[in-house]
Amino acid sequence: LQNIPDGIVRSIEGAVARASGSLEPVVRLGVTGLSRAGKTVFITGLVANLLDRGRMGQLSAVAQGRVEAVYLQPQPDLTLPRFDYEGHLAALTGDAPHWPESTKAVSELRLSFRVRPSGFLAGLTGPRVVHLDIVDYPGEWLLDLSLLERSYADWSEAVLDRIAKRAEAGEFMAVVRAEDGSLPLDEGRAQALAACYTRYLFAAQAAGRGDCTPGRFLLPGDLAGSPVLTFAPIPRPASAARGSLWREMERRYDAYRAQVVKPFFRDHFARIDRQIVLADVLGAIHRGPQAVEELRRTMADVLGAFRPGRNGWLTRILGGRRVERILFAATKADHLHHSQHAALTAIAGALLREAKDRAEFAGARTAALSLAGFRATVEDEVMRDGVALAVVRGRVGDRTLALYPGRLPEDPARLLAPARQGAETWLEAEFGLMAFEPSRMALKPGDGVPHIRLDRAAEFLFGDKL
Ligand code: GDP
Repeated sequence: LQNIPDGIVRSIEGAVARASGSLEPVVRLGVTGLSRAGKTVFITGLVANLLDRGRMGQLSAVAQGRVEAVYLQPQPDLTLPRFDYEGHLAALTGDAPHWPESTKAVSELRLSFRVRPSGFLAGLTGPRVVHLDIVDYPGEWLLDLSLLERSYADWSEAVLDRIAKRAEAGEFMAVVRAEDGSLPLDEGRAQALAACYTRYLFAAQAAGRGDCTPGRFLLPGDLAGSPVLTFAPIPRPASAARGSLWREMERRYDAYRAQVVKPFFRDHFARIDRQIVLADVLGAIHRGPQAVEELRRTMADVLGAFRPGRNGWLTRILGGRRVERILFAATKADHLHHSQHAALTAIAGALLREAKDRAEFAGARTAALSLAGFRATVEDEVMRDGVALAVVRGRVGDRTLALYPGRLPEDPARLLAPARQGAETWLEAEFGLMAFEPSRMALKPGDGVPHIRLDRAAEFLFGDKL
């Protein structure tokens, strides 16, 4: 190479690096779930425990000692916000530990693994690099898929029918009944309608309802206040001229579908290889049978987005691609003593099975799990009336409290069946929860942060690629 100018050598080296770089496998892992399901905490815990792998014994590449290094890299999609891993980890493990800010929009993080191959290749080739692109996005956005199949008239009618008798929709229904869609658009009134509908959606979400479309009304990202989010369902007038409220609402609804929903599915969803869907199952059990029933229906809708063929437009966009593995996980398992984890996993499994039974996920592998992205409690036993109770202990404000949440049934049907039959309360026992906060920890270098079964989740989701 002596006679070749430096610049040319550098550009040849660059080209070789780029060529080999493009051969490095990339796994795109989608992380979703409704608001407060635990996405942010899950990703933060997962990344911390992949960077420092002392607590990842169930990830086989780690157990086999093949992972030489894991590091964060600049992500490939330059226009997507980066998942604020450092900020979220600092919140959890700083001097005044607290839960990080939740997911509000789509974000991404690239983690790269340098691994030694396994099997007969082990002695023949050197280490290779595998990239894991973690894509965090709100589950609410997946529910918008149903809007693609519905005109504004159909959507309005369906929503108004469904919510007419709901207590939390009282204000909106009163406003909407006084509205006449045939009158010329008044922007002030359109904004007031949209604001009132958004208030209803937040109330419905707080009540544990899952049918909260359009998803961006709850999590607008940078679209807040734009006309594409300034519409609401209204009753169809007998006739609606151009420029009328009805026509303008319809135009905005169509723009929402074309310019907000479709780009999300095309640019992000369609590129996902592996998916984890998180659900706050314990929170729903705590709220009661109706919340569990609502969660069951919503999770079937969320998981439905992964069924190829369900939506013609999406099927065309996917062009035969599909998500290869889907993990359905009940989060915040650290509210339970480990003796009850199997029961929680069984409930998650039953919820997944129901969604699956409606239609098979065409070859995708699925599994259910219970986990904690960040374990905020420790296990303990306390004596009550001469009986030892398995409890967890954690920080609430400046106190440390013990929690015995109640006993989950071994058979998930005992929980899901009453919920389905419209029971108002659990007959057997109430199920309590506490808002534990992270405690100050002395972390050993190389050890990651405390979690429950993140290593098993990782093994299922991308262990085969390492
Ligand atoms: P997101 O909206 O899906 O991003 O939800 P977050 O990850 O922000 O979690 C919402 C809230 O649930 C947090 O602020 C915590 O209060 C709680 N939470 C999430 N994960 C865990 C966990 O692993 N253990 C416990 N105890 N609480 C959790």
